[in-house]
Amino acid sequence: MPKPTKIKDFLGFENQRLSKPPKNIDKIIFLLKKEIKQFKEPIATEIGEKTKDPFLVLISCIMSLRTKDTTTGPAAKRLFKLAKTPKGMLKLSKKQIEKAIFPVGFYPTKAKYIVKTCEVLVGKYNGKVPDAMEELIKLPGVGKKCGAITLVYGFNKSNYIPVDVHVLVISNRLGWVKSKYPDKVMEKLMEIIPKKYWHDLNDLLVRHGQNVCVTNSPFCSRCAIKSYCPKIGVTRSR
Ligand code: SF4
Repeated sequence: MPKPTKIKDFLGFENQRLSKPPKNIDKIIFLLKKEIKQFKEPIATEIGEKTKDPFLVLISCIMSLRTKDTTTGPAAKRLFKLAKTPKGMLKLSKKQIEKAIFPVGFYPTKAKYIVKTCEVLVGKYNGKVPDAMEELIKLPGVGKKCGAITLVYGFNKSNYIPVDVHVLVISNRLGWVKSKYPDKVMEKLMEIIPKKYWHDLNDLLVRHGQNVCVTNSPFCSRCAIKSYCPKIGVTRSR
C-alpha cells in the first residue's frame, strides 16, 4: 500500500492524504478543459496571466469578493490605470480609489482594505507581496480564498486550491465534498484531488460554474461532464 502523502497546511498542522481521488477525475478534468476553451477567463486568472504580478492579483481579488467578474474587471482596469504598486496606490486618496472601483460591492470598505493592505506591504514587506499563506491572511481584507488566488495566479504556485462559490457548489454537486464552508472544502479538495490538477482546478470550475453549472438551475443538458455527475442537491436544472 502506498504511503500517505502528508500535506502541511497553512494552519500549521498536517493532514494525511488518505482519501482516494474522486472517481473519473482524469476524464472530468479532460472534458472540462475542452469545454471551458469557449468561455472567458475569470478575472484573477486573466490578470495573473497577463501581468504575472501578485500585487495586481491580490488587489483584484479584494475587489472581487461578492462582485461579478464583469464588474470587477473594468473596475480593476480603472484602478490600475491610476496605480500599479503599493507605493503608487498610497499616493491616491481613499476617495479616488472608491471612485475608480465603483460599482463593485462594498466599495467603500474595499477601498479602505486596499489602502490598509498597501500600508502593510510598504511598511512591513518593502512594497512586495509575501508569498506565504500565513502572511497573506494577516493583510486587511484578505482571507484564505484571496491568499490562495494570489499564490496560485499571482505567484504561479500549485500549493493551494482556491475555493470560491463556484468551486464550492460544483464540488458538492459532484459529490467530491459535503460542506458549505469554503475552508473545509479547500482542505478536503487538497486531500483528494491529485496535485497535478491543483493549479488549474479553480479556473476550470469557475469558468464551468459561470457558464454551465450556474448556482441556480444549472444547464445539465449541455454539460460536458453530465455522465459523471450525480447532481447532488440539484433540484431544478435546464
Ligand atoms: S451535470 Fe449539472 S450539476 Fe453536474 S456538473 Fe454538470 S451542470 Fe453541474
